[in-house]
Amino acid sequence: MEIILAKYGEIALKGGNKRFFEDLLVKNSKHAVSRYGVFAVSRKQSTLYFTASDNAENQADIRGAATALGKVFGIGNIQIAAEFPKDLPTLLKDGVAYIKDKLPSPTLAFKVVAKRADKKFPFDSPHIAEEFGAAILAALPTLTVDVHNPDINIYAEVRDNGIYVSVGREKGAGGIPVGASGKAVVLLSGGLDSPVAAYLAAKRGLTVIPLHFESPPYTSARARQKVETLCEKLVPYCGDIKLRVNNLTVFQELLRDKCAEIKKDGYFTVLLRREMLRRANTVCAEVGADAIITGESLAQVASQTLPAIACTDNAADYPVLRPLIMFDKTEITDIARRIDTFDTSSLPYEDCCTVFTPKHPRLNPKLEDILEIEQKLDILNL
Ligand code: ATP
Ligand code: MG
Repeated sequence: MEIILAKYGEIALKGGNKRFFEDLLVKNSKHAVSRYGVFAVSRKQSTLYFTASDNAENQADIRGAATALGKVFGIGNIQIAAEFPKDLPTLLKDGVAYIKDKLPSPTLAFKVVAKRADKKFPFDSPHIAEEFGAAILAALPTLTVDVHNPDINIYAEVRDNGIYVSVGREKGAGGIPVGASGKAVVLLSGGLDSPVAAYLAAKRGLTVIPLHFESPPYTSARARQKVETLCEKLVPYCGDIKLRVNNLTVFQELLRDKCAEIKKDGYFTVLLRREMLRRANTVCAEVGADAIITGESLAQVASQTLPAIACTDNAADYPVLRPLIMFDKTEITDIARRIDTFDTSSLPYEDCCTVFTPKHPRLNPKLEDILEIEQKLDILNL
């Protein structure tokens, strides 16, 4: 029977508080595989073992579960493995038969990667690799061995409970289990950047609470649906998330009119962004979050110059984290494609940020001017 081995990433290096990270990893992993069958999860030697319940009605989808685990933060790598008794002749016979079945092609160059985690096993890793490699070649003569540049690695790992054999393995999502670093409110537009920022925040262990601003009728129901879809795309990485939507229409209309009245249209965008952060403060307090995340990237647009960022930050009661601040658009796009948010983000619906944007936004706003304008507009009572 096949099982899944998921090896810890960075948390394998944790000291006294490793248990805290492990518990979260187990919880998040169990949730991720629950759609694919009933799995028992055990942990040993910085590895989680997922064993499908052997109930005949339970057609567990091992491959589906392994793919889902590939999106769970905290896991370094994942392999589907067959377990054999800790006995070399059995490995050479049954292990080889298993591989025969699993190889994607009969003409690959392979390398055996043997690991003896259980030092009581009488043969060391090089010996296991040599014997197992020779047995595989004897049974499958169209294969070749290439220890420097193999097409595929075949793993044989001697662990406490048996020898585990895998044909290849997948890189995990890395990072820290979601929830380990606390909570953060993510300002989620329908754009390309903020979903990637949410993904990166979750990667470092934050539970993300997405907050979206809309301005109907200037923004449409389809624009809201787009953000809902983006949230669904983030679930495999971030865990279950629930979108909060906040209405900016009245504020934006008043701000537009008042800015025009006092001939300060150029400040509209920064003033709007400060309002977004004040509203994010309220959500942070409500849900117990300790940071605000945005998808801003330095110099990408007028509101993302250093002076504009400084003016925006000043309205926040919490640290504002910007995972993408030093990322190029192409780097952000690469991640968006990988996490499958790119196509949805590219749908051409309007965002409240682009409603009433001035022709000439201030690139170099000064905080003292902003505070003065806000006082004049009595902004907190708009
Ligand atoms: P994105 O691709 O994330 O929309 P952008 O390049 O369009 O970013 P801006 O529109 O200036 O940049 O927005 C900067 C950040 O402000 C966004 O990354 C997001 O975190 C936040 N933001 C913008 N619009 C909204 C919105 N409607 N609701 C929530 N947050 C928003
Ligand atoms: Mg945007």
